[in-house]
Amino acid sequence: MKPCEHDDLTITPEKQGADRYMKISYPFRYGRFSGIKSRQYIFQFNLNGEIKTIQGRGEGWLDASEWLKRTAGNDWVYFAAGGYTGAYDFTGEYYVPCLPYDSNGIFGQNRFQSPEVTEAFAAWHRLMDRLKTLDLRDRTEEEKDLIRRVLAMGPKVLGQRAQRLHEIIGGPVSVLPPDTRHVEYDIIPITIADGCLYNCGFCRVKSGNGFKRRDKDDIRRQILALKAFYDRDIVNYNAVFLGQHDALFAGTNLIEFAARQAYELLELQNSVMREPKLFLFGSVDSLFRADAGLFEMLNALPFETYINIGLESADPETLSRIQKPLTREKVTRAFHRMITINQAYSRVEISANFLYGADLPETHIPAILELTRNQLDHFYSKGAIYFSPLENMGPVQTVKNTFTEFKTLCRLPVYFYLIQRL
Ligand code: SF4
Repeated sequence: MKPCEHDDLTITPEKQGADRYMKISYPFRYGRFSGIKSRQYIFQFNLNGEIKTIQGRGEGWLDASEWLKRTAGNDWVYFAAGGYTGAYDFTGEYYVPCLPYDSNGIFGQNRFQSPEVTEAFAAWHRLMDRLKTLDLRDRTEEEKDLIRRVLAMGPKVLGQRAQRLHEIIGGPVSVLPPDTRHVEYDIIPITIADGCLYNCGFCRVKSGNGFKRRDKDDIRRQILALKAFYDRDIVNYNAVFLGQHDALFAGTNLIEFAARQAYELLELQNSVMREPKLFLFGSVDSLFRADAGLFEMLNALPFETYINIGLESADPETLSRIQKPLTREKVTRAFHRMITINQAYSRVEISANFLYGADLPETHIPAILELTRNQLDHFYSKGAIYFSPLENMGPVQTVKNTFTEFKTLCRLPVYFYLIQRL
């Protein structure tokens, strides 16, 4: 659609970005969206008219290749270009999402205190005020429709919509699986089971409740409500997260029901984004309980499936200190099951988390290396190892040195877990 200029504003009612997610070292936009460009900023809106990204232009902006992105949970994320600082090696991504809340720690600076970011938000508010008084005579129907949608999605409404999203699924998603980085964290969340099996002492994201499945009526209710919630913008989604912390334990029947219903009711076959993906967390015990039938079912779904398992450590002293009710033997067995499944099923990938923290016993990292190097006969490209950061990571340079040494020795891809909520 041809852009239209109003004074210094260029309005593009609809634009098409890439139709698949890529690892790319320059700013890239996905799916279908609208844009309003001023002299200093590019504002992009999703198909509901909700602000989606803000990117500065020229002087007064931090870096021409960096931008702000708003999530469906109404958090702003600053995408920092990390390619030239080696962030790709550490995170698997060229851009590091920096969050306004306590999260990843060592990568990227907190940009939310910077005057440039404050000014970008002020510019968005000024744009909204300006659109209210814009003369709409002689404008096309598409332009008028876009302006109406944008004006209906002011900051207060965006906050209420995030609350609505959380109401539908039963609360905020405290943490997304690390593999959701493959879809720039743009997932539709569906809760199929609450709580988790272990309630580990160290964990900051647990609900504190025991594991409990949702019933099929509730899952269907969520999917239909989510379809109404995402509304016109649903065509930009091709990825689903089955929550909460151990959806794998929900079993074959419920996982298949949720995945297939989501695919059909959300009409993901019509998404402008290709290669649908399904994400879930699992635990050591849910991995043991999952039989071949479960993985065959996943392999036959219209999604590529990513399951992330919290192993945390293979060191008995560390497991005891973090109060994770597992043994070295169980963690080792789960690790080898992960390797076997990754080789057996082309459309299923299991990744594993291990903790990283300065206060963990010295035996922790060597125990993980024993597993991920000494117990593997060659390098496997499938099945990433994620280091999940604890509050005290220690000096940044030590973290980077330890990580680099580990990555060189490990026989699996290794990254840091970029913890993000929704
Ligand atoms: S680490 Fe996983 S299993 Fe342990 S309390 Fe947190 S969410 Fe539950």
